[in-house]
Amino acid sequence: MKKVAIIGGGFSGTMAAVNLARLSDSPLCIQLINDRYPLGRGVAYGTRREEHLLNVAARNMSAVPDHANHFLDWLRTRIDYSDLPDPQLRETYVPRRIYGDYLRSILANYMQPIDSHHPAEIRVVESEAVDIDYNFDGIAEITLRDGSTLEADRVLLATGNQPPSSLGEEDFVHPAYSTDPWGNWMEKIPDPQENIIVLGTGLSMIDVFLTLSELGWEGNMIAISHNGMIPQSHFRGIEYPDFLPEEPENLGLEKLVQLLEKHCRQLQRIGENPGIVVDRLRPHTQRIWQQFDLEEKQEFLKRYAARWNVIRHRIAQPIHQRVTEAITEGRLKVVRGRITGVSAQAEKVAVDVQNKTGSAQTLVGGLVINCTGPNCGFSGTSVPLFQNLMKRGLIRPDELDMGIDIGADFAVIDQEGAPSEFLYAIGPLMKGTLWETTAVPELRGQAMRVAQLLLDDVALVTPGHDYRMSVEEEHVIEYYI
Ligand SMILES: Cc1cc2nc3c(=O)[nH]c(=O)nc-3n(C[C@H](O)[C@H](O)[C@H](O)COP(=O)(O)OP(=O)(O)OC[C@H]3O[C@@H](n4cnc5c(N)ncnc54)[C@H](O)[C@@H]3O)c2cc1C
Repeated sequence: MKKVAIIGGGFSGTMAAVNLARLSDSPLCIQLINDRYPLGRGVAYGTRREEHLLNVAARNMSAVPDHANHFLDWLRTRIDYSDLPDPQLRETYVPRRIYGDYLRSILANYMQPIDSHHPAEIRVVESEAVDIDYNFDGIAEITLRDGSTLEADRVLLATGNQPPSSLGEEDFVHPAYSTDPWGNWMEKIPDPQENIIVLGTGLSMIDVFLTLSELGWEGNMIAISHNGMIPQSHFRGIEYPDFLPEEPENLGLEKLVQLLEKHCRQLQRIGENPGIVVDRLRPHTQRIWQQFDLEEKQEFLKRYAARWNVIRHRIAQPIHQRVTEAITEGRLKVVRGRITGVSAQAEKVAVDVQNKTGSAQTLVGGLVINCTGPNCGFSGTSVPLFQNLMKRGLIRPDELDMGIDIGADFAVIDQEGAPSEFLYAIGPLMKGTLWETTAVPELRGQAMRVAQLLLDDVALVTPGHDYRMSVEEEHVIEYYI
């Protein structure tokens, strides 16, 4: 039997496994290797806390690209959502743990014993993959943390984001310092006279803010970031004429920025949210990115990426309102500056911050939580699997050092610049290649497309086989998971 190994069991790896299982019409062993975060849920949907909500409305969270209402239909099977009017259900921002239940239930459906409808089998391996060797007779050998090995014909990397970046003090460890926004820092909450400092002002900071609010924390929270910008709120779109040319990917950065700025100003003049401009660009962003030359990509990252991220990654309106109220009341202070280091100050933690003019300040917290997000420099990775793959020449960083170099059709590019015969990658590892490769609406397409390609590659699909789910199968998914 042919074997495919998938390293990483968050959204990307799980849905790639599910798509392989549902699309294969020949026997196939799918080995889903996952470590650290809960299977199926990964970092984003592994939270147990009710206040951690999806930041995308339910209508756009189907895990399968060929069934747009899949998540909505599943939600309807839960008593708490069964009676909500359709327009309300579609716009709901569901707790992320419920989305994790959804992914687990899809996986469970495909982990059932092989039958004539589903000749593929998913086997879960709970361990960290630390190395892969390829012997060029077509078999890859994956080494796990305990030294044991697994064999596969093809391997898919779906390992998610890199761990957070270091803040000057390598391996800083302190009882009042947490590097995991969704970890057990709640047990370390200090006296309300002291500050809680959050490093970062993005979506993870919002999660920490919400949890502190739910726990009734009465002290102050300080959030620090380079740009001092908090995520914007979702808003109701308006009728606005199409302003992009037919092939916006051919504009180049300079003309594109001019066009977008013109429409931002226009929207501001009529009192509308300029975020509409970003929404209009979304369907084209990956193509635009791929058409940029290296200089344009670097320029975008330097000058516009922070602003893009703030407008692009939005939060539900009621949450945004709570955050802005806390800022107005002084319970949440946002500090703009570069974090230059963290250090112990007896039982507290000191954070050094340098502002734009070069002046420095030190803020002291009874608890400091690092929410700065994934490390963007791939070549200095601390992850054993990637260190080993680089040593073997099986992968190389992409031209921006944001992830690994990945060619057309998800094939990993090796050190010599050749597409791999056996190694594929999807998800945040493709950031340098695609720029937007983070959210479910992008990842669900990748998870399905890579499954189709892998099946083609190991010749497991009868020529002419239609990849779309049969009506019968769609029915099964819709009603029985
Ligand atoms: C807090 C948060 C909230 C988000 N909310 C939304 C949202 O509302 N809507 C939306 O569309 N998107 C959202 N996203 C973005 C997106 O959906 C997630 O980032 C997505 O789930 C990424 O999935 P992934 O499988 O690629 O990575 P991950 O979820 O990171 O999963 C990777 C898994 O692989 C494991 N792994 C890594 N290396 C190895 C190894 N060597 N061996 C074995 N296992 C390994 C990891 O431990 C992890 O379990 C959110 C992201 C975050 C972080």
